[in-house]
Amino acid sequence: MALILDGRQLAAELEQRLQAVVAERLQRAGRPPGLAVLRVGDDPASGVYVANKEKACTRIGIVNCGAHLPATTEAAEVLATIQRLNADPAVDGILLQLPLPAGLEAEPLLAAIDPEKDADGLHTLNLGRLLKGEPGPRSCTPAGVMALLARHQVPLAGARAVVVGRSILVGQPMALMLQAADATVSVAHSRTADLAALTRQADVLVVAAGRARMIGAEHVRPGAVVVDVGIHRLPPGVDGRSRLCGDVRFEEVEPIAAAITPVPGGVGPMTVSLLLVNTVARWCLHCCGDQPLADLLP
Ligand code: NDP
Repeated sequence: MALILDGRQLAAELEQRLQAVVAERLQRAGRPPGLAVLRVGDDPASGVYVANKEKACTRIGIVNCGAHLPATTEAAEVLATIQRLNADPAVDGILLQLPLPAGLEAEPLLAAIDPEKDADGLHTLNLGRLLKGEPGPRSCTPAGVMALLARHQVPLAGARAVVVGRSILVGQPMALMLQAADATVSVAHSRTADLAALTRQADVLVVAAGRARMIGAEHVRPGAVVVDVGIHRLPPGVDGRSRLCGDVRFEEVEPIAAAITPVPGGVGPMTVSLLLVNTVARWCLHCCGDQPLADLLP
């Protein structure tokens, strides 16, 4: 029976910590932290994600400075909105919710976000800071994974880590963070030969391939720690309900792993938490000149 790395529980603990950090500094700061979630169009899944993020902000004491623009908005107007938020001193974090409506290119808009207000930690400058080990906002999903591993005291120094996936969103920053924690890291991708032989070497296996249930018992060394970043909605079953699953066949891997993240309830809640951490961390720096959350920004 593996230890379950419970992201919901840790996210709730982090919320309490963030509430305390905000409450302690509010007077000194002179204003609450502000996060602008910028949504363009009406992608239904994005609507749910944005609502979740806004609710979490309210619980912590972060002001929602976001905007919802119609799907027909021109790129120049989205850009002007980002520039207005960049210049607004009440905004500490900006997040452009993806996907954008057809016809709007994400890259130039993401690049226009002030790197000091980059709540997602994905701006080129912040990825460079991660590479160089300099402080800055960190990519939310991999930083969330690092927080889960730290919370459960998973040893990383000298450990053999394998990351499946090399996206800029997850795989690449994940590998950099594990390496910064002194793990010996291999990165697998769609052209990796004999994936199972590689993943079986892992003490810590992080899977972010975006392939539903691709990793099974044959990929995992008994006693390994397995983190499943993948999230997929399965077609409705006989009961008419659709379910979520990850990139890992949980029922096969859980009996042999030392620890494993569930889907849902593992990495997902940590991603939202780290968005809040990045925002509050920037606020502390902007308004109080300190950084009480550095341990969460690996
Ligand atoms: P991408 O599709 O951008 O990247 C997937 C990566 O996996 C690529 O590098 C790809 O290789 C690699 N890959 C694909 N198939 C295989 C294979 N058969 N063997 C080995 N490697 C493979 O996905 P993301 O990184 O954006 O997301 C990954 C998953 O994580 C998705 O399910 C996504 O929904 C989920 N996710 C979950 C989050 C959460 O909060 N829980 C947040 C972000 C993402 P190549 O480069 O060669 O194409």
